[in-house]
Amino acid sequence: MTTGVSTAAQLERFRELLLAERRKAEERLAEQSEGITAVRAARSDTSVDDEHDPDGPTMSQEWSQRTAVLHDVEHELTDVDRALARIDEGTYGVCERCGNKITVARLEARPTATLCIDCARLVR
Ligand SMILES: [Zn+2]
Repeated sequence: MTTGVSTAAQLERFRELLLAERRKAEERLAEQSEGITAVRAARSDTSVDDEHDPDGPTMSQEWSQRTAVLHDVEHELTDVDRALARIDEGTYGVCERCGNKITVARLEARPTATLCIDCARLVR
């Protein structure tokens, strides 16, 4: 028998976990945005376009790496916000697929989880 989130105290603890995640993600987002601005500035400094500039491909690579990370972090923020909304709605910790409770252990490892471990395995 597995136990899900059931008490208000547990919910509050997860809310705090999620808010902490949110702060960390926001910091990373700010960091990446700064980096992208720097890359963009460096790019516009070069008068030659990427195709002929020997530094071009490296720049593009750094660019796409940074935008990929930025994308991940934005995705993470969306997940965190959704989880926080679920806490408010009272549906936090309930599997979106089968309606069973997600175990506290799983939520502790992944506070933004929307599926129970069985469904997560099926979906993957
Ligand atoms: Zn499920």
